[in-house]
Amino acid sequence: MIPYGRQDIIKADIDAVVEVLRSDFLTQGPAVPMFEKTVAAYCGAEHAVAVNSATSALHIACLAVDLGPSDWLWTSPITFVASANCGLYCGAQVDFVDIDPRTYNLCPQALERKLVAAECEGRLPKVVIPVHLCGQPCDMQAIHALAQRFGFKIIEDASHAIGGKYQGESVGNCRYSDIIVFSFHPVKIITTGEGGMALTNAPALADRMLRYRSHGITNDAGKMEPRPTDEIWNYQQISLGFNYRMTDIQAALGVSQMIRLDEFVSKRQSIAKRYDYALAGLPLQTPWQHHDSYSSYHLYPIRLKLGEDEQTQRQVYDALHAIGILANLHYVPVYRQPYYEAMGFKSGYCPNAEQYHKEAISIPMYPTMSEAQQDEVVSCLREALGA
Ligand SMILES: *Cc1c(COP(=O)(O)O)cnc(C)c1O
Repeated sequence: MIPYGRQDIIKADIDAVVEVLRSDFLTQGPAVPMFEKTVAAYCGAEHAVAVNSATSALHIACLAVDLGPSDWLWTSPITFVASANCGLYCGAQVDFVDIDPRTYNLCPQALERKLVAAECEGRLPKVVIPVHLCGQPCDMQAIHALAQRFGFKIIEDASHAIGGKYQGESVGNCRYSDIIVFSFHPVKIITTGEGGMALTNAPALADRMLRYRSHGITNDAGKMEPRPTDEIWNYQQISLGFNYRMTDIQAALGVSQMIRLDEFVSKRQSIAKRYDYALAGLPLQTPWQHHDSYSSYHLYPIRLKLGEDEQTQRQVYDALHAIGILANLHYVPVYRQPYYEAMGFKSGYCPNAEQYHKEAISIPMYPTMSEAQQDEVVSCLREALGA
């Protein structure tokens, strides 16, 4: 069986976890702040808040920028549902901006057109969430320029993209955004089992996210309300938060995985190059890369070019699965999910996203994949496409 993605765990990772298990703190010990420092330093961001998933990170990021009822959140339809659900958690309304047909990322020109129209109707978004699909960074400079002009906040969903670069700089430095979010689910670039992190350069946003992570509680005397001095107050709850904390067990695994982040990404890059070469000439589009981007290649979607026959995606997908190659789909446009359709979204809403969805298949891509496994995928594809 060849999965579409999987983690790479070695003895050093296991040892790091076992060390925590033998220590005094399984959670809220030294490993979480160390993991936060390691990721922030790698990315070149000022602050980092580790949480139990990227979904939680997106939620507290939205809360930190004050997304609430009567506000709008816009994101790409080609993403995991969490990029949109975070808006609904805050009571906001969610809308979608069509993708660029080359990068499959949220299209800045489509965003601009939609913003101009929304301005006339007085319903500009408060937050836009660009998603660095497959690990290829969005055109952040263009999106940032629109944020300046139309006054929205940017939360980057970089669940796929740690270890990547944009304009030669690490994804995660927040040069063009307010907050960026990473996922450490096992199929992603590095893993903590479950886990996520939000990074920002704004101390006030970091401070709020820290509190939302842990019940809205502070133990900073300077932030507590004054109370009679004969009462003991170790902490106060000053807002409504959650238990979104990461454990030290997870964080230790994260610190250990960070050591090999660059190695993971360069292996993914070479697997991608090998696919690019082996698949050239087949009736499909390999992932196009912008010269500003160095992708961390979480995913490698091929886009079939087979005319009007919509059965073909199904046939290729089934042919791969029949021999244990677990290709996947990333993603059904979020608004086509039954829960979103029930809000009134109709199919046809974002034509580029729907066309992509009909043609794309994510073929296996992970750092421990062997050349023999890759060759098996390629020859199965050749056969399925009659090439
Ligand atoms: C995986 C993923 C998430 C959610 O990550 P979790 O850590 O599983 O909560 C969010 N957005 C995108 C684009 C993802 O791929």
